[in-house]
Parts: sequence; C-alpha cells; structure tokens
Amino acid sequence: MVRQLTPLQLTGREDSHLVELPCGNRLRAEAARAFGRLQAEAAEAGFALAIASSFRSYERQRSIWNGKAGGQRPVHDDAGRPVDMATLSRGEQLRAILRYSAIPGTSRHHWGTDLDVYDAAALPADYRLQLSPREVAPGGLFDPLHRWLDERMAAGASHGFFRPYARDTGGVAPERWHLSFAPLAQACEARLSRELLLSCWACDPGEEPLALLDEIQADLPAILARYVAVAPGWCPAPGTGA
Ligand SMILES: [Zn+2]
Repeated sequence: MVRQLTPLQLTGREDSHLVELPCGNRLRAEAARAFGRLQAEAAEAGFALAIASSFRSYERQRSIWNGKAGGQRPVHDDAGRPVDMATLSRGEQLRAILRYSAIPGTSRHHWGTDLDVYDAAALPADYRLQLSPREVAPGGLFDPLHRWLDERMAAGASHGFFRPYARDTGGVAPERWHLSFAPLAQACEARLSRELLLSCWACDPGEEPLALLDEIQADLPAILARYVAVAPGWCPAPGTGA
C-alpha cells in the first residue's frame, strides 16, 4: 500500500517523498520505477526518453510565479508573443500567467508523479530545449516520440503514464510533453482542496510574499475549477496499480 503524502509534501514544501534518479531528477519511487520501464521500451523503439523537469519545490515555483508577475520573466500569449504585463489589470495578469504556470502549492510537479519529457536522441547539437508547442506538434522534433507514447497509452501499455494537459479546455494550455503517473497522481489530485491551499499560503515561510495572492484568494473556486482541475478521463485506466 502506497502511503499518502503529507500536506507539506503535496504542496511542494517538503521533499522527503522523493528518490533521485541517475539523471539527477527526483520522483516518487513507484513513479521512478515505472518511468524506468517506459524508458527502456522507448530505447528499444529508438527514442532516448529524457526528463526535462520533474519535482519542483514550492520555493522554485514561487520564484517562477513572482518572476512572471513582476516582469523579470517573460509571459507569453497563445501565439507565443510576449505579453506586456504593465498594460493588464491584476486579474488579467493572473490569468495570463495561469495559462502556462501553476500557482505555487497547486503544481502537479510538487507531487513527484509528474514530469516533462523529450527525446534526447532527436535533439540537434547546440539546440536549446524549449518545451514549446512547436517542438511537439506534427512534424516537430519530438512528434515521433509523442506519437509512440500516444500508441502506448491507447494500448494500455504506458506503465501508468498519461497526459493531464492533452486538450485545451480553456484553462492551462495543452502540454504534450507533460506526463503524469496516474496511479499516484489521482490520489494527490483528489486531496488538493481550497482549505489545504489557503493554509499553505497562510503559513508560507518564505521571505518573499506570493505575488497576486489577493486576486487568487478572491476568485479561488473558479481558478481551481479552470486551471487546477484537469478534465475527468485524462487517465483512461483509473486505478491502475493504485
Ligand atoms: Zn510539466
């Protein structure tokens, strides 16, 4: 029986639920083992399935979030153009960031079950990995890997990995590179409540306050429904191995 994460682990403020992979990335042990099996099968099919990002802490997510809210990091629109944050209201700023970045405490990357992948074998020399929609679109660098992954998922042979952001439902933009280990992630998803998040932000130990927190709290139920909840059925084989 797999143990439940504590509230601190679930919101990325504690990392004792993780193991380190040889590549230096961190995941929960069950997810790491399953990913190793998927990676070995990908290698047989000619792909070097690699992790661009796995566990991300609350502090790291806050630095990304605050950097975008404060204008030190770029925010892009759906066409990939930079957004001029200074011309937006605070509510509009919040939604522009939410399209591509999770509020600290709500990121699936806190759980040790979710990861962003690419095909290291398809990477040209001196190419800088972007994880952009273009790289994973039909004809893109990583499209063959993702087509192979789609086939594995459809066949129920993806070792529990599925795509929570496969489709655009008006919330988080589609992220074909983002995989989630459903047998553990579904339980995390179910526990991410308003109460848990409000207490997480209330006792944020950081020296740096979370940007746009008033706007987040003022509209929390709608934000959770649109940007944190993922479409039911994102994982077509619920309970596999859980
Ligand atoms: Zn991701």
